Amino acid sequence: MDTLFTKIINREIPAKFIYEDDQVVAFHDIAPQAPVHFLVVPKQHIRTLADVTEQDIPLLGHIVFTAQRLAKELGCEEGFRVVMNTNEDGGQTVYHIHMHVLGQRQMHWPPG
Ligand code: AMP
Repeated sequence: MDTLFTKIINREIPAKFIYEDDQVVAFHDIAPQAPVHFLVVPKQHIRTLADVTEQDIPLLGHIVFTAQRLAKELGCEEGFRVVMNTNEDGGQTVYHIHMHVLGQRQMHWPPG
């Protein structure tokens, strides 16, 4: 399945990469909503968070672990927010699961 993020992973579309390993990549969001805003994206294509299965649990753990580790490395020791927009009502626009990581500004709740 060729998604925008698959093309970024395959270096067919440029992105500002922060991190890569055998399971995930991380790159800066093209339209940042905070001074730090990057995405952690699995190399495996899964459409939405609602499509994950039990066998994806280790991958999901790896995504969350990578998100917090990179957040701290990028200066968000005081706090950050992770978000996985899911399907239309959840505000998802790219149908290849990804975790947003936002930091270095005060977050509010509810997000609106
Ligand atoms: P979502 O709306 O949760 O599916 O998030 C998709 C995110 O991908 C948005 O925050 C976009 O700004 C971001 N995005 C779209 N195209 C690119 C790109 N070429 N490089 C980096 N981020 C992108």
